[in-house]
Amino acid sequence: MAETIFSEMSRLALEHDAINLGQGFPDTPGPREVVDSAVAAMHKGWNQYPPAVGIASLRHAIADHQRRWYGLDVAADGGVVVCSGASEALSSAMTGLLRPGDEVIALEPYYDLYGATAALLGATLVPVRIHAPDYALDAAALRAAVTERTTMIVLNTPHNPTGAVLSRAELQSIADIAIEHDLVVLSDEVYEHLVFDDNVHVPIATLPGMFERTITVGSGGKTFSVTGWKIGWATGPSSLVEKVLGVKQWFSFAAGTPLQHGIATGLELPDDRLAHLGDDLARKRDLLTDGLRELGLEVFHSKATYFVTADVAPLGVTDSLEFCRSLPERVGVAAVPNQVFHASPEGVETQVRFACCKRDEILADALLRLRKL
Ligand code: PMP
Ligand code: GLN
Repeated sequence: MAETIFSEMSRLALEHDAINLGQGFPDTPGPREVVDSAVAAMHKGWNQYPPAVGIASLRHAIADHQRRWYGLDVAADGGVVVCSGASEALSSAMTGLLRPGDEVIALEPYYDLYGATAALLGATLVPVRIHAPDYALDAAALRAAVTERTTMIVLNTPHNPTGAVLSRAELQSIADIAIEHDLVVLSDEVYEHLVFDDNVHVPIATLPGMFERTITVGSGGKTFSVTGWKIGWATGPSSLVEKVLGVKQWFSFAAGTPLQHGIATGLELPDDRLAHLGDDLARKRDLLTDGLRELGLEVFHSKATYFVTADVAPLGVTDSLEFCRSLPERVGVAAVPNQVFHASPEGVETQVRFACCKRDEILADALLRLRKL
């Protein structure tokens, strides 16, 4: 297996002392209460193995969160499994549910883990492309991609790398297809609280007939700006969640006990706090978008997440992978080429993803450096 683009670009950023707008992680601390709670847990001596399924207080906090925010009736016992990041929840769900030869449909661009995991399992990822600038779902293309081997659709909303947010109508057409063909939906919602402006995140599990066929994945690292903690989860009906747990117990067995306490505290913060997590990021999205436009680049509107995608063709670039590999050394900025989120780079050869989740002065410095191109 090749090195992931995130490792590669973060390594180059470090080597060249570049500003890292590649791998998506914030450079400001998460809520104080979350960190304090994890530290307190360590001092209380809660440092030994937790149950594989996750500590009870976090499972209850996750179930309550799904109920408060989305009206979903998730069972804290049986309907939740805590994992080492959303990554492990996703790879455990795919491993537990896919068999060699199965086809899994994903909207393209897709987070690289889905393709790598499908390949490890001998399953085939079938991409259905969404296109810039609006990234609307082509429901007919999705329907046409289903074969008798299809068993799963992997969704990601809000969407990395485009910042798209699937609308209720788009989710309904996905739900119709999933129900008609009896497919499981694995819904990656790690950016659920990092949504900008009037956009609204709708979990597909809330649509009629969908809860029983959906595994929903969340990430404490993303929601509370502690990406290095690697605490994620899968929720859904116990018949599906038990398959995630069945695999996950053999991967990591369990995720760090004190960090689970910290994330439980975060999920219990007043809803108002979670509702405003995207505000500051929206402003940073604007800073970066405006700055990149001033450089003459076409920037596609991002509605959510840590990311903004730009077309760097006006800089004379023909291959964004080559461009991103040279950028840290040339001007001291790292970014990620969108083609790594595609089965084939055709049509996105010059698209580049920049992370906006950095302090204002860092974004300003990065834009100054990019001016040298
Ligand atoms: N899904 C998407 C779409 C992501 O961008 C990421 C990266 N953070 C993950 C899953 C993995 O999340 P975690 O760090 O919680 O494993
Ligand atoms: N999800 C993060 C991103 O898209 C990276 C996570 C990782 O490094 N694996 O940038």
